[in-house]
Amino acid sequence: MDRAIIHVDMDAFYASIEQRDNPQLRGKPVIVGGVGKRSVVCTASYEARKYGVHSAMPIESARRLCPHGVFLPVDIDRYKKESAKILNILRRYSNIIEPLSIDEAFLDVTGGNPIYIAENIKSDIRNELKLTASVGISINKFLAKLASDVKKPDGLTVIKKEDIVDFLKPLPVSKLWGVGPKMERELNKLGIYYIEDVQKYDVDILIEKFGKRGKELFEFSYGRDNRPLEIHITNQSIGEEETFISDTNDMEFLCNKLREYSVNLSNRLVRKGFLIRTVTVKVKYSDFTVETRSITLNIPTYDHNVIYETSKQLLTTKFNIIKDIRLIGLSLSNLIYPQDPRQLSLNI
Ligand SMILES: [Mg+2]
Repeated sequence: MDRAIIHVDMDAFYASIEQRDNPQLRGKPVIVGGVGKRSVVCTASYEARKYGVHSAMPIESARRLCPHGVFLPVDIDRYKKESAKILNILRRYSNIIEPLSIDEAFLDVTGGNPIYIAENIKSDIRNELKLTASVGISINKFLAKLASDVKKPDGLTVIKKEDIVDFLKPLPVSKLWGVGPKMERELNKLGIYYIEDVQKYDVDILIEKFGKRGKELFEFSYGRDNRPLEIHITNQSIGEEETFISDTNDMEFLCNKLREYSVNLSNRLVRKGFLIRTVTVKVKYSDFTVETRSITLNIPTYDHNVIYETSKQLLTTKFNIIKDIRLIGLSLSNLIYPQDPRQLSLNI
């Protein structure tokens, strides 16, 4: 069965919040960004975009293009509160949500009616938050994100399976996921300017030139993208700890404890279908002072060896153990639920 993925992207997020909260700013070019001379624009309202102002542009350039614009500093705490409200709205429609940034998220609504859900999300955001979102719908993350960008602001765009290849053909190659200015120049050198050029290119040459990335580009050019949504359940963590009968600084003993915890916690992850990214070791000394150290992994894992090696590395390199230890603990957080938990059992 094809998946149904929705990408929600707020329209001119920071500027829209400022305009909503201060009626005098409505209809005016509002530019939210850093205040220093060398800062950049974070968000420009649609009124400001008419003057050529866009995000990531130096503030000084924005001032030249739009001298009568209203320039405001970034009030990130306020925007984060709005972002949390948006996520709460999205949670009404799916448990599988991957926030991509403060104002964007994917939802997996496979099995539901994606257009109906997208319309409801848009109207909830409009009614409850007085903000607008543009929404894209397709069968994977890459295409859903492209779709949300087709019509802004307040758009709703569906890329149907039968239209994928034709939809992609005329787009510049920079629209492929992960192609930045540097990669774009590399591709231009090969005579690749549009996605259609990638579709026609010899995939073996792309692989030769760019390795795994080359294969990925080719797959994306046909709209193929199997990546699952990654869900971070930030408030949850699992852990184990033990207070010893007598205090110790025996490293071998302490590492064996970490190994024991790693195996137990890994078993719990596998049973629940979770992956984790953050490993934390806690140490309580004989004088009852407590220290913790964490590492966040680049690749999510449930593997007890990876968890153990990471915790051992923390214990042996990040603590300065000069007192005896009465308790050692291990906790795992940044839990991620892959779209298909069965993928896990295949690898065990
Ligand atoms: Mg946005």
